[in-house]
Amino acid sequence: NTPSIGLTGLAVMGRNLARNIAGHGHALAVHNRSPERTRALVEGFGDDVAAQGGRFVPSESLEDFVASIERPRTIIVMVKAGEGTDAVIDALVPLLDPDDIVVDAGNAHPDDTRRRQEALAAHDLHFVGMGVSGGEEGALHGPSIMVGGSEHAYAHLGPVVESIAAQVDGVPCAMHVGPDAAGHFVKMVHNGIEYADMQLIAEAYDLLRSVGGLSPAEIAEVFAGWNEGELESFLIEMTADVLAHTDAATGQPFVDVVLDAAEQKGTGRWTVQSALDLGVPVTGIAEATFARALSGHTEQREVAREVFGTDLREVEVDRDRFVDDVRAALFASKVVAYAQGFDQVQAGSREHDWDVDPGALATIWRGGCIIRAQFLDRIREAYDADPKLTSLLTAPYFADAVRTGEAAWRRVVATAAQAGVPAPAFASSLAFFDGLRRDRLPAALIQGLRDDFGAHTYRRVDRPGTFHTDWAGDRTEKEQ
Ligand code: NDP
Repeated sequence: NTPSIGLTGLAVMGRNLARNIAGHGHALAVHNRSPERTRALVEGFGDDVAAQGGRFVPSESLEDFVASIERPRTIIVMVKAGEGTDAVIDALVPLLDPDDIVVDAGNAHPDDTRRRQEALAAHDLHFVGMGVSGGEEGALHGPSIMVGGSEHAYAHLGPVVESIAAQVDGVPCAMHVGPDAAGHFVKMVHNGIEYADMQLIAEAYDLLRSVGGLSPAEIAEVFAGWNEGELESFLIEMTADVLAHTDAATGQPFVDVVLDAAEQKGTGRWTVQSALDLGVPVTGIAEATFARALSGHTEQREVAREVFGTDLREVEVDRDRFVDDVRAALFASKVVAYAQGFDQVQAGSREHDWDVDPGALATIWRGGCIIRAQFLDRIREAYDADPKLTSLLTAPYFADAVRTGEAAWRRVVATAAQAGVPAPAFASSLAFFDGLRRDRLPAALIQGLRDDFGAHTYRRVDRPGTFHTDWAGDRTEKEQ
């Protein structure tokens, strides 16, 4: 059986995705710029995949690779994002035939995906931007796969990706999200939500340790307990694991020997940039991205520590109650972060006419991906119950969760501020909640100021129209 599908780019992600595809009984053409990786894959895992009824068809040149695939070809590109992806696509295009499908499975900016799709369409080629989440383990054992591009491309690619994706309750965590860049767009927002989720978890840890007085090992147990309830998720489970780990070299908690400067590959930043363009307040994701940036400003931090000192302010808390409060604050803030992320998905979908189904998206994020969590089932149920839901936050289950946790949430944010422990994501989520439910926002004053200094006009509460007051003159109001 000649392969009709091929994969080029066999670093950590590509290698594991290749093992997963061939391990599901498919013949798979494989290639990598440096042939050593191709050889290592075939030598290391060729027998394993053969035992599953699949096989690798290796090539050392791109020409041989393309020639080894039956038309119409489906070629998955899993190489370094950005220039690497462009270089591989540029090299592939002259070797392909009309109707072949090129799939970029790396993390691409949606604008790049749209650009590449247009360029390939000019050659009668289909281009698919495909978001793959789950890291290297997910790629091997079942990732969550968010596919963009045309229906035609999905007809070829869908059966393969649905077979290799994680399965939850018999449902594959893979879907055709929508046309052109829809797949990469939702993957970008997924990563943004992941940033917010991790920042909230980090703030909870910091508060439990610095204000609650718990040790990392004790906090690990707290998180393990939380993973039994409504917070159950991959990241909470992993937090317990990392906090329980002891550094072999020093015997200290692992978390204490790691430099406290968080790095990023850029998907959080892309999410915030896109949210700014769309006018969607994703405050949790933005705070998470800025918190990573702040942590990396080591010189500024050093000077500030010298000038202001590092002492925390004295705050008395009841330890058990505080642990409970932090759990409630974490859950309420997490609801806000996910609600904001889904707002962004829907705003992007409206902007580009993608018709993304948010309930279906929640379904494929239940397994395989980094933000997989029990509560994505609740998100799916909320959209099933009301497909036109304006905000997840107001869906009955989440509204109840936020109401139940509200008092604890306020205590935690107030305690953090009093103690001097930064909790930007907790605080901004609470401010977002209060902003949404406020009867009158001070935006009215902002409109007045804008009209005063720039004649930007305003609307009135009592009658339609646009108005300007002659601030410099006699202060009469004129309808514009
Ligand atoms: P890297 O991002 O480290 O990229 C390495 C691969 O890209 C190698 O196969 C390399 O070939 C190839 N490559 C780089 N530049 C070129 C070029 N100019 N021409 C041809 N090949 C090139 O690999 P990962 O496996 O970590 O990630 C692959 C993609 O998956 C990336 O887009 C990444 O953003 C995305 N991703 C990664 C995740 C992760 O957890 N790592 C999770 C989800 C998505 P060579 O061996 O010859 O150097």
